[in-house]
Amino acid sequence: MLLLVDQDNVLADFTRVIYTEMCARGHRELAPPPAKQSTYPLEDHYPPELLGELKAIYTAEGFFRSLPPIEGAVQAVKEMVSEGIDVRICTHPIQAYRNCVGEKYEWVERHLGAAFTTRMILTRDKTIVTADGLIDDNPDITGSRTPIWRHIVFDQPYNRAVAGLRLKGWNNWRAVLGPMVLGVSRRVSWTDRILGAGF
Ligand SMILES: [Mg+2]
Repeated sequence: MLLLVDQDNVLADFTRVIYTEMCARGHRELAPPPAKQSTYPLEDHYPPELLGELKAIYTAEGFFRSLPPIEGAVQAVKEMVSEGIDVRICTHPIQAYRNCVGEKYEWVERHLGAAFTTRMILTRDKTIVTADGLIDDNPDITGSRTPIWRHIVFDQPYNRAVAGLRLKGWNNWRAVLGPMVLGVSRRVSWTDRILGAGF
């Protein structure tokens, strides 16, 4: 099974760091704490005159590199790979890419090891990537194609209205993904049988 895993707010805790920094700058009252943020994206919580300040935070040198991992994410991703799932980190770089792109790689190297950086896919259109599944917090993933992957929603307060398969936390990835892994394996063995039968 080939599984795409988003980076921000799935592996790395983007929102918490932004929220903490905006609070430190005196903007505590504008956005609810991350556990109660019911709208997406984060920018929607702040008035237009503060968007420049917000952008200054996430474009700053060191921001993406230093994001803390989401609880259980690093261990879960390592477990998935060791159990035969072909995991690729599929992440959308910000347009001001200079610090973001390199630091996303640095983050993966630091937390998952240098070899894992070869599993990275940076794209601003995830619909054109082929895979069996995509674990992503974004409630509305759009692009130039109808995606063939199944969206597994990584639970965040702003995506609770999205129906379908949902991963509520990394510690229960086997319960959520197990049936999918088996389903893909069954498809493969069915194909193998057809090919083996000479059809
Ligand atoms: Mg995300």
